Amino acid sequence: MRFSDIIGNEQAIAQIRRMIDADKLPHALLLHGAPGIPKLGLAMAAAQYLHCKNRTDGDSCGVCPMCRQHQSFNQVDTHYSYPFTDSKGTGCTCDDYIGEWREFITQNPVEDYQAWLHLLKNDNAQPQIFVREADSIMRKMTLSAYTTKYKVHILWLPEKLKEEAANKLLKLIEEPYDDCKFILVSDNEKGILGTILSRCQRIELRRPSTDMVARYLCDRYGMDMQDALALAAPADGNINVAERLVQTGSEFHEFRERFIELMRLAYQHDLSQLKPWSEVIAEMKREKARRFLDYAVRQVRENFIYNLHNPELNYLTREEEAFSTRFSPFINERNVEGIVAELERASADIAGNGNAKIVLFDLTIRLSILIRK
Ligand SMILES: [Zn+2]
Repeated sequence: MRFSDIIGNEQAIAQIRRMIDADKLPHALLLHGAPGIPKLGLAMAAAQYLHCKNRTDGDSCGVCPMCRQHQSFNQVDTHYSYPFTDSKGTGCTCDDYIGEWREFITQNPVEDYQAWLHLLKNDNAQPQIFVREADSIMRKMTLSAYTTKYKVHILWLPEKLKEEAANKLLKLIEEPYDDCKFILVSDNEKGILGTILSRCQRIELRRPSTDMVARYLCDRYGMDMQDALALAAPADGNINVAERLVQTGSEFHEFRERFIELMRLAYQHDLSQLKPWSEVIAEMKREKARRFLDYAVRQVRENFIYNLHNPELNYLTREEEAFSTRFSPFINERNVEGIVAELERASADIAGNGNAKIVLFDLTIRLSILIRK
């Protein structure tokens, strides 16, 4: 991983680059920020830059033996710790999960905790970093660096350290070996034990812009920029969310069809068809029905904006736009707020265990009045 592979956060990258160039990388550096912000990759890029034999233009070269080892996640002086479950037995350490870990970092350029749980084959588990992992870290840190000046230990999610493990690690961070650098990567720095937190130099990472997320989706999934922007916008800088939207594309296709049906039937005031429509949505699982209603809210807003004829403000896929060219005039300043409020109220009622059939049929009747305003 090179700095140039990291999305956004140029200032943080520059700061880390300066530290390494001046040989002043702290013993314990904490990279933190909300889930879905690329942080683990930045830690790996920093380790690669630290070890690279031929730094070029402020980045690792990507071709020297050190870089090649890093890029195959096989650099002997770079170690990782991460939360895991006891699914392979109670004496395990991270070394027993190294296969899953390599698969995880290879397949997820931006770390996604849900994907990690899935790889651990236990989506409902509560992985932790156990005290025996802290012992394993201590053993590794007492060994001299093999090939480089500094060993690097990247610890993903220090908020998952068990207290006893955190206390052991604390000693290592307080009295570090000269050739050892820790990079901690956290989704939630408030969950980290205060004693650890206070001994780390912290860098907070910021959400990438919608444009940056869209460009990432284009590169990774070969998407068209317009479609990528339409998925990146609701993700609000969370790349994990944006990627899930790509992966559930079929759901979006279904939502689009249902939304078009709803608007058409509401405009025709066709109650005989609106009732079966509301029953189809009510048959969805509660969370899916709510995702549909979120989608409908976004579409209503996008269609209102579409009337302004300023493409820079719109986040519609090409398919959605094909509908909006005809439909958008029906969403106007007299009804947009009312329609959004009704959709949001229906979502809240369903979340509150309201009878989905009644809530949704009631919604369709209100919409069929509002849409003609
Ligand atoms: Zn290199």
